[in-house]
Amino acid sequence: MLAGSNQFETLEHALKHYFGYDEFRSGQREIITTALANRDLLVVMPTGGGKSLCFQLPALLKNGVTIVVSPLIALMQDQVQLLANNGIPATFLNSSITTEEKRDRVAAIHNGEIKLLYVAPERLNQEFISNFLVDLHQEVGIAGFAIDEAHCVSEWGHDFRPDYRKLAQLRHYFPKVPWLGLTATATDRVRSDIINQLELREPHVHIASFNRPNLYYEVRRKTTAPYKELLAQVKQSEGSGIIYCLSRKKVDELTTKLKQDGIKVVPYHAGLDGETRTKNQNSFIRDDVKVIVATVAFGMGINKPDVRFVIHYDLPRNIEGYYQESGRAGRDGEPAHCTLYFGMGDIKTIEYLIAQKVDPETGMALEDEQRIATQQLRRVINYAEATECRRIIQLGYFGESFPGNCDNCDNCKYPRPISDWTIEAQKLLSCVYRFGERHNGRTFGLAHTIDVLRGSKNDKVLKNGHDTLSTYGIGKDRSVDEWRMLGRSLLHQGLVDETSDGYSVLTLNGLSMEILKSQRKVEIAISPIKPSVAANEVST
Ligand code: ADP
Ligand code: ZN
Repeated sequence: MLAGSNQFETLEHALKHYFGYDEFRSGQREIITTALANRDLLVVMPTGGGKSLCFQLPALLKNGVTIVVSPLIALMQDQVQLLANNGIPATFLNSSITTEEKRDRVAAIHNGEIKLLYVAPERLNQEFISNFLVDLHQEVGIAGFAIDEAHCVSEWGHDFRPDYRKLAQLRHYFPKVPWLGLTATATDRVRSDIINQLELREPHVHIASFNRPNLYYEVRRKTTAPYKELLAQVKQSEGSGIIYCLSRKKVDELTTKLKQDGIKVVPYHAGLDGETRTKNQNSFIRDDVKVIVATVAFGMGINKPDVRFVIHYDLPRNIEGYYQESGRAGRDGEPAHCTLYFGMGDIKTIEYLIAQKVDPETGMALEDEQRIATQQLRRVINYAEATECRRIIQLGYFGESFPGNCDNCDNCKYPRPISDWTIEAQKLLSCVYRFGERHNGRTFGLAHTIDVLRGSKNDKVLKNGHDTLSTYGIGKDRSVDEWRMLGRSLLHQGLVDETSDGYSVLTLNGLSMEILKSQRKVEIAISPIKPSVAANEVST
């Protein structure tokens, strides 16, 4: 018999009884067993992995009511509705309900008729806790706290909510009640932040693999007519999809264009009023439209399992964001497509946005934020320009090592030809070496190095006397783009380092020295990003 319940022989029986499923998904059984033993837990699982069940089933099997903290009202309503459809006694308290509704619900909760109570974090103020929850605990007992989207507690996450910081006080009121934090955010830093901020006690930490095998990842180079290619892709794609843009303005522009070209489409961004946003979101969820064009304001908590494609028409700001946003495709486990359009102009746009990060009061640059944002941008560019399996880079970002050869990304499906660039690499690296000799170890960034190699006469070259270096002008035979591609590839392969002394500079490492001594060859893929198939189709 199961602890806390005299009704079921095994957890599988309980699963079947309440949810109609035959078996647990990977990790669920272990998590649920741990939760039933009243241990604190941190569950890290990708979107669609089946996190909700991990607190819902224990809530049903334990005495008392489980309090679920969830950041979005829409999400809360969704989950409660789903549970109600299964005959599971759950309800929510938030600002959207009337006083009468509230009274009825509170009565039902106090009568012990409710097993799962969803609350918004902003409700968890002193008064609510010390009056309502303390009473509740005495009368029916609080079986546990489940904190959904727990990364909202961390400033390192992508969705920090100050209200989440107040949750820790619950721990002090109810020291014996176990906690369960759940998130799809996988970075180490966010994980330890959740444990610290929520004051989890020796939690059992469950980290699932973040690989989403059903998603096809590809990067397309923005051609001279990227819109044409995008349109062709949307027309070819079956099912519905999300197109992410960086700014509200671009969302509006793209929506208009697609509409003119006969695509059923709605926009979504924080500049639209709440009513319009809800309307547009619903028409996307109900498949009244094929496409929703959106800023990153769209997506969290949207429950649409059959999104077939997610297109980033602009460069995302960081890998984590890209993973989460593209991960909204294919939650039903069926094949889905994630496409990132990438052009050099995007880098400039994001750099501009980063430079705009200033303190609104003093007008001073927020240097730490700018530095972090720049590092994150660099990793996105590395992802976009990579020649290796896309999954190696994405999962590597979360500290997960992936063997490669996924056979479901562009780089694995269409590997690019490799060629020998050892001589060029030696030219580039020896230029960096000469900088160091000339300036007591101080070096310069990639753009300036290329200027010197190509014999530029610009101010910075002349002012530093770099036109007198032996490496000045030795790289005229290659274009700026080719040098840039080589430089990026060297960085990417770890054959040279980039460090910051206010701005980014190239620095040599052990592998760079091996190249300079001809002890190591340099091989790179000829074109950093292949022009995509669809682009060719459009131009013919
Ligand atoms: P997450 O919160 O991790 O994004 P959900 O909890 O919403 O994921 O679960 C995703 C989907 O998987 C839901 O439709 C859910 O009903 C389904 N699901 C969860 N566990 C199981 C299971 N053991 N068997 C079958 N389907 C499951
Ligand atoms: Zn791959």
